[in-house]
Amino acid sequence: MIYLDNAATTQIEETAFSAMLPFLKGEYGNASAVYELARNSKRAVFNARKQCAALIGAAPNEIFFTSGGTESDNWALIGAYEAWKNQQSGADHPSSDGSAECAGSGTRGGHIITTAIEHHALLRTAEYLESLGVSVTYLKPDSEGFINASQVIEAIREDTFLVSVMTANNEIGTIEPVCEIADAVHSVRKDILVHTDAVQAYGQICLDAFAKHVDLLSASSHKLGGPKGVGMLYVRDGIRLAPFIRGGMQESGRRAGTENVAGIAGFGAAAEVSFAGIDAKIGRETELRDRLLAKICDITGVIINGPYEKGDYSKRLPGNISVCIKGIEGESALIMLDREGICASSGSACTSGAREPSHVLKAIGRADDEAKGSLRFTLSHHNTEEEVDRAAAVLSEIVSKLRARNRF
Ligand code: PLP
Repeated sequence: MIYLDNAATTQIEETAFSAMLPFLKGEYGNASAVYELARNSKRAVFNARKQCAALIGAAPNEIFFTSGGTESDNWALIGAYEAWKNQQSGADHPSSDGSAECAGSGTRGGHIITTAIEHHALLRTAEYLESLGVSVTYLKPDSEGFINASQVIEAIREDTFLVSVMTANNEIGTIEPVCEIADAVHSVRKDILVHTDAVQAYGQICLDAFAKHVDLLSASSHKLGGPKGVGMLYVRDGIRLAPFIRGGMQESGRRAGTENVAGIAGFGAAAEVSFAGIDAKIGRETELRDRLLAKICDITGVIINGPYEKGDYSKRLPGNISVCIKGIEGESALIMLDREGICASSGSACTSGAREPSHVLKAIGRADDEAKGSLRFTLSHHNTEEEVDRAAAVLSEIVSKLRARNRF
């Protein structure tokens, strides 16, 4: 089996697996309890908070564990909205139908700015906020998937309370200038919160200054060699954010629910391993990406999605390849790749199976029939040259067969 779908999920790192084991059996104490049996659980959660904070230059008390990237994104948006609304309710005097106008700046339902190429975890939450009366601006990227700071600044309104721009796109790998955007927003208005969905970037590229720039950051354990079902939200100390999961006093009373100690310990260990080996990992993945992409580009009719420059990992995630291949259907190619033991994806994992062309490819201007021929290969440092060479050779044969069948 050749696994080239590391943006969907990753194999668990040995260190992360070992870190989890004690908490799956003997060390079952509830991390919030006071007795001796809970001590190691508590220590493991404390340690993981430090390990996860280190990757973005945050303080441990700014890290809140969640059930994954989806929950973190939901919390960031809904929590920011509720905090803003609570603050407004003291000062506002809405009309009887609750829809009072705010001169020249839209309604008092509030306004957020995000992008048209976010993950569905973010987009569906933004749509939910729209159903509550919030206005949402979905910024359009350029043809390589970039959003720039001036676009964001131009979209700011008097009632804007949140900007959310992803760190790196899960389909086409584009790395957004998030710190620059955050600084530009804060230079105009300090009260606007800046969130970034860093699920695809955390542990993959260097983010060690991010806590200095953004207010909120989502990350997920299973994208960097940790277990599934655990993630985090970085919440800058002192910002207003309402809780999302209500209940007990875990996570300083901001995210209730008995801690998933084994998951959290595994996440922390995976984060530490990624942080320590980040340069080697980036170098290795960039090398493999360039090698595989060069071979794929030997096939005629291949368009690269997103920015690409050989050896560069500042604009595109080191392990990401996204292409559209003319004259084939990505879904058919995936099935044939699978028969040869090769795992890849067309668009994001969360949309594969759906017939609609990906919203990301549409947003960067791909025509529907081009987008249908899209394939994504996402590499990890565990892949080998032999694997990428075989994947390229198998893909080339599959493309010929599909084109013959489609008389392309
Ligand atoms: N955000 C992005 C950019 C993602 O790629 C994903 C998952 O693919 C998510 C959020 C959701 O993360 P999780 O699977 O941890 O819920």
